Amino acid sequence: MSLLSRYGRSACSRSRKLRGPSTLLRLAFLSTASPDPLGAPSPARLGGPPPIRVGLTESAGRGVFATRRIGSGELIHTAEPVVSHPSLRSLHAVCYSCLRKLNSAGSPAHAVSFCSDDCRARSQAFYEVETRVDWSSHDAYCRTQGLKYPLLVKRLACMVMSGATSSNCLDILQPAYLSPEMISEMEEGFRLLKCAFTDAHVKDEQIAFLTKQWYTTLLARIRINAFRVEVVGGSFEDLLSMAAASVEAEAAVGNAVYMLPSFYNHDCDPNTHIIWLEDAVARLKALRDIEPGEELRICYIDASLDWDARQNILSQGFGFRCDCPRCLSGD
Ligand SMILES: [Zn+2]
Ligand SMILES: [Zn+2]
Repeated sequence: MSLLSRYGRSACSRSRKLRGPSTLLRLAFLSTASPDPLGAPSPARLGGPPPIRVGLTESAGRGVFATRRIGSGELIHTAEPVVSHPSLRSLHAVCYSCLRKLNSAGSPAHAVSFCSDDCRARSQAFYEVETRVDWSSHDAYCRTQGLKYPLLVKRLACMVMSGATSSNCLDILQPAYLSPEMISEMEEGFRLLKCAFTDAHVKDEQIAFLTKQWYTTLLARIRINAFRVEVVGGSFEDLLSMAAASVEAEAAVGNAVYMLPSFYNHDCDPNTHIIWLEDAVARLKALRDIEPGEELRICYIDASLDWDARQNILSQGFGFRCDCPRCLSGD
């Protein structure tokens, strides 16, 4: 298993390209504000736009900045995933749509379940297409190779085919650099995905978007922008205990890609963190007081690692050398 697949979190290339200020401004408010179950005082609870903007940093391309003072513990905004998928290990233990842990584990071995009628209805975006296709070879490949991101591509492909999203919906996100070796490693996944559709007699025009180029560039974006979703179960005590530490791997229920959270840059001593309470809805919370204009940063990796380990993972997994204040101090 590569470092990248273990630590995939969010984009932070030092050479990000921008799409123009109007797009950035619009993206800043794509995320929805919703009530904070922990009760932290927050204007976001009133339903206004989140107190942030996406702009340019001096050295790290895009970044997220506070538009007013944000208090420690405040819920800054929430974000629905663009695409999510349970980990194969959690497949029968969580909702196939929102990744919420299921109360009963009584479903048949090969069935997936939904936590609610709402999730069942929302799953129409991919499930109707998905159930027309035999995925056994594709999913067996993911399972034996320990791959999780091809499952996100598969779900997105089904969403595109059902008309729920467009084939270029993640194009604004920075892709990972792919070596020729990495591209050739992806060929089998592409072949199996495409074969699954053609074997199910899906019409050519319906999968016209599904080219090798589409597959590899999408996977390149997912690789550095996907978050590992680690639910804490909604308990305030759980949340406190995880505030400054890494989360146990057992808490990981799946993977998801978000739009706005992907614009947060990395810091080994971050002022913001991303958490999940019960499902795949991401919550961005302030870890300390943040001043107006200050950049909000999250930690892509386990912050308790030492300097060497952090630099190693960030450079191999995310393609940059970290020069945050903590790293510069040698900590
Ligand atoms: Zn659900
Ligand atoms: Zn650092």
